[in-house]
Amino acid sequence: MPVIEPPIRADDVPSWERTVDLLVVGYGIAGACAAIEAHRAGADVLVLERAGAGGGASALSQGQFYLGGGTDVQTACGYEDTPDNMYAFLRAVTTTPDEASLRVFCEQSVSRFDWLESLGVPFRREAYTHKAVYVRSGEGLLTTGNEKVWPFREQAQYAPRGHQVSGDGPIPGGYVAMQAVLGTAATEGVPVQYETAVIGLVVDDDGRVVGVRARRDGVDSFVAARRGVVLAAGSFNLNADITGEHMPLFSRYGKPLGEPTNDGAGLLLGRTVGVAETGMSGRVATASIYPPEDLIKGIIVNANGERFMPEDAYHGRQANLIAKQPGAIAYLILDEEIFGYPQHGSHTFVDGFDDVDEMEARLAVPAGSLRRTLADYNADVAAGEDSAFHKHPDWLKELTAPYAVFDISVPHSDYHWMSLGGLRADEFGRALDASGEPVPGLYAVGACTAHLAQDGDEYASGMSLAAGSLFGRRAAVHAVGSVRTPDGN
Ligand SMILES: Cc1cc2nc3c(=O)[nH]c(=O)nc-3n(C[C@H](O)[C@H](O)[C@H](O)COP(=O)(O)OP(=O)(O)OC[C@H]3O[C@@H](n4cnc5c(N)ncnc54)[C@H](O)[C@@H]3O)c2cc1C
Repeated sequence: MPVIEPPIRADDVPSWERTVDLLVVGYGIAGACAAIEAHRAGADVLVLERAGAGGGASALSQGQFYLGGGTDVQTACGYEDTPDNMYAFLRAVTTTPDEASLRVFCEQSVSRFDWLESLGVPFRREAYTHKAVYVRSGEGLLTTGNEKVWPFREQAQYAPRGHQVSGDGPIPGGYVAMQAVLGTAATEGVPVQYETAVIGLVVDDDGRVVGVRARRDGVDSFVAARRGVVLAAGSFNLNADITGEHMPLFSRYGKPLGEPTNDGAGLLLGRTVGVAETGMSGRVATASIYPPEDLIKGIIVNANGERFMPEDAYHGRQANLIAKQPGAIAYLILDEEIFGYPQHGSHTFVDGFDDVDEMEARLAVPAGSLRRTLADYNADVAAGEDSAFHKHPDWLKELTAPYAVFDISVPHSDYHWMSLGGLRADEFGRALDASGEPVPGLYAVGACTAHLAQDGDEYASGMSLAAGSLFGRRAAVHAVGSVRTPDGN
């Protein structure tokens, strides 16, 4: 648990070390975008970062930004998309009640793409057209969600929106992106103080957040913030107490994504002044069965020997549906023609089987269940339509002996996951209390807030970096407006 102190009243602050316009807590994608925007608006901004360098989980990430609505990359690759089409898809796949944020996420997507590129974040005009979790071969666009998956493919026109930062071979795109973003901030002179943890908030008599208490080398100091404090301190993925309470299955068996400072400091700071939390059990996990993509032509069954999903679902959706099965047990059944080893998830190869009875006995599924499932599936394949789960016809193929099985159960595989819940904030990045009212002076952006996707079956890879960059900027604009005088001074 990070050290977090209760709020202190402004009148009780012994002395202010410094006063700024905007104080940003954390220097990942969300904090950096907030800081750049505020600095460019002429505000006196200060970033306090607990680690010895900026980047956070953002710099560890694969560097996929979920962007659309007709970005230059989409257009150059021959895909049509509009903000309304992007919204139609996200509205269909997510259950977020935050309509205003969802709208703005889509409407400002093209400008967000242009802005990121103007900072030097590289996106190549080339599409990767196969199913993948991420690409490291340089292509700048791929499908990272459920756009081709039933029923969503019928609710919006298909367009890939996973904007993949072009990494350099093994270097992840997130590192490349953050080098560009932090490099721009440094060139433009955004002030940052490292190895300084914000451990508490300062409030005035009206309950407005007017500053922070920071700790560096064991010494506390206070920084006042005239226009606001932006919490951009990242997720609580590495806080086992919080994840154990809200997502016990993956907390127990899975591997959290992030770095040690993703320990919920932002969430806990918000709590001290009454910011509401939402979607706390939401998480996106992955132990993708693909690549190789031919494995999608197999079937996934549960401990009852029954299918329960279209196997072409986005890997986060797959994980969510597997987690809901009895014991979170699932098996991937292939045949000889499509056999291959899944590249992710360390899934255990169970065995090859010539005989369905033998396979049922080995997997301990009810006698006759797999035989029935395979017969039903093969009949659907012959008819050209997966009547049960509507797997896309591209992935339909009759399965015949000999078979092979991988155990893709949550307790037996390496599921990597990240939380999707967190502080409640609005479309301006304002932190909200339980009644939906803004907590004056306080903003919350990035992974310390709840994502637009409430759970893994709603998520598309890239929605986190994309939201952090958007709402970071919007919080800064809302807090500082333009503080330059008309003559630009
Ligand atoms: C391996 C991996 C792959 C991923 N791939 C993708 C992807 O391709 N696309 C995508 O959208 N998402 C991806 N994610 C998730 C995504 O990286 C994060 O959700 C996102 O980067 C969060 O950004 P952030 O700015 O909110 O937080 P972070 O980038 O984590 O930054 C938070 C910063 O706050 C600092 N901090 C914490 N506490 C304090 C404190 N008390 N005082 C001061 N500073 C503090 C931290 O040190 C950190 O630098 C991935 C994550 C991982 C780990």
